[in-house]
Amino acid sequence: VDLSVDEEIAALRRRRRAVIVAHNYQPAPVQDIADYVGDSFELSALASQTDAEVIVFCGVHFMAEAAALLAPGRTVVLPDLRAGCPLADTVSPEDVRALRARHPRAAVVAYVNTSAAVKAEADLCVTSANALRVIEALAEDEVIFVPDANLGNFVARHTRKRLITWNGTCRAHNAVRVDDVRTARREHPDAPIVVHPEVPPAVAERADAVLGTGGMLQYVRTHEARRFVIGTEAGILHRMRRENPDKEFHLLSASLWCPTMKYTDLAGVARALRDLEPRIEVPPEVATRARRALERMLELGRRREGG
Ligand code: SF4
Repeated sequence: VDLSVDEEIAALRRRRRAVIVAHNYQPAPVQDIADYVGDSFELSALASQTDAEVIVFCGVHFMAEAAALLAPGRTVVLPDLRAGCPLADTVSPEDVRALRARHPRAAVVAYVNTSAAVKAEADLCVTSANALRVIEALAEDEVIFVPDANLGNFVARHTRKRLITWNGTCRAHNAVRVDDVRTARREHPDAPIVVHPEVPPAVAERADAVLGTGGMLQYVRTHEARRFVIGTEAGILHRMRRENPDKEFHLLSASLWCPTMKYTDLAGVARALRDLEPRIEVPPEVATRARRALERMLELGRRREGG
């Protein structure tokens, strides 16, 4: 029998007792077949609670690793192994160890966009939504923050703590320009401009709100405006339009497109379900330490809303 790829995914999902999760930046057809679509925090929390045997993670490598850390004993597959995060790749465990040696009194905070090996060197992880609040709550006055310089500088401007930042950036978010904000204000004068903290500081300063993807979805849902300009990866527009059919969404810059997020397709999801490959596993000695950093984030995030 010739099954369509959708039917094949549905049949395999049942047979494998699998859950399919997709990040907000995934291509529209992948979001549409997923059981859950969310931000890094929500998908990590979900992985830690699911009773599915297999987690098909439609996102990038560090996210699938986080799911593997938080759902021990489950099989985590990433449909396309090329789906990495160039931002996460800017920092290595050796880099973090060197920073710690240079600043022995500082707490080490890793953005979730890091490998499990880097998380293992950190005291705790944060997301873009909870970074400021979590860093404020730390006992240390000095904080090493890796790898995103823009998010680090955003936090630094809002706290009295001394932040030691790394110079990583996300190519898509970092390419947004102040001129894009000017153009958007001219073309859509009534539309709030909402940006992700990975954009350059000069752009963030000129926006109406600076939020992680979960926060953005909530912002556009509850705001009375009919039109919005969105300063994060283009994939999120699909979900915004689906959830708010009476509102209009425009992308702040054409640069907001992440190539590695787009490696996932339905054929890859079906293949991953069929072969249970490529499997994402974390060596136990790394996993124990990385899990601790992630669990501290989840615990702080549960006390208030995550992002
Ligand atoms: S959008 Fe940027 S930070 Fe997110 S996965 Fe792509 S490269 Fe990494």
